[in-house]
Amino acid sequence: MTEETHSGSIDNAPIQTEEFEDISDTTKNVEHVEHNVPQSRTQTAQVDSELFLAPKDMVTLPSLGKVYPIESSLHNVEQVEVRHLTAADEDILTSRSLLRTGKAIDALLSNCLVDKSIVPENLLSGDKNAILTYLRVSGYGPDYDVEINCPGCGEDIKHKFDMSTLEMNPLALEPIIAGENRFEFSLPSGDNVEFKFLNSAEEKQISDALEKIKKATNSPIDKNITTRLKHQIISVNGETDLGFISKYVDAMPVRDSRSFRKYLEEHDPDVIMKQEYTCNMCGVSQEVDIPITVSFFWPDAE
Ligand SMILES: [Zn+2]
Repeated sequence: MTEETHSGSIDNAPIQTEEFEDISDTTKNVEHVEHNVPQSRTQTAQVDSELFLAPKDMVTLPSLGKVYPIESSLHNVEQVEVRHLTAADEDILTSRSLLRTGKAIDALLSNCLVDKSIVPENLLSGDKNAILTYLRVSGYGPDYDVEINCPGCGEDIKHKFDMSTLEMNPLALEPIIAGENRFEFSLPSGDNVEFKFLNSAEEKQISDALEKIKKATNSPIDKNITTRLKHQIISVNGETDLGFISKYVDAMPVRDSRSFRKYLEEHDPDVIMKQEYTCNMCGVSQEVDIPITVSFFWPDAE
């Protein structure tokens, strides 16, 4: 196996297929570890399935494990052991029923995480993204061909991103209480909010909620910002009632909302999914969001 060290940063990249809801953010740092097969194993005549284990690596979690409860095996754990994709995993990636229900990614993670006590749904989405980026790069290589909408000329242009150079935004904040996904921020108005970083199950709730709002209201107004804030805020000045928080968010002064969102963005533990892009058509050169599409795990899919 080749030795690879990559650091990736993924920043809320737009998700373009339903199956990929889980991958909206990804970051990571990977260090290769030696895969040692004890000598004695090779001497037993018995077929030992462990002999056929795929190579493993340690993947750094952007959350550094700070958000997981003390009783979780992930509490304050900065790296998890992940094994490379195998042909059997490709069965998951091509299983129509798993794809249809959107379960393929979690099934893949369950397979590849060495610590079986980890529930993929409970992983912070940034942590999940880090692991998925690692699996993608180790399994299919760092080149990621995807169509992007050029910020200069507006054309849809196919571009090759290098997923091995992504950087990570590790969690620099400390939780209010160790082992609790609970942080605080003082708004410019003086109000004090407590908030959490979202796991992939909560991200899914948000996208489902947005979908529902869109269908129900047929409104052109995107509720993305308020819906996210309502899910992330745990309390306002000590008040935890969800109805109160919802009304509070809707009436939040723009100055508070902007400053809070900027703070969340700066501190969101995740892979930074951005890379420099130069357009061959119009010559514009700037950093763009890397879109996560079906070709992230299905490089040959169109
Ligand atoms: Zn262009």
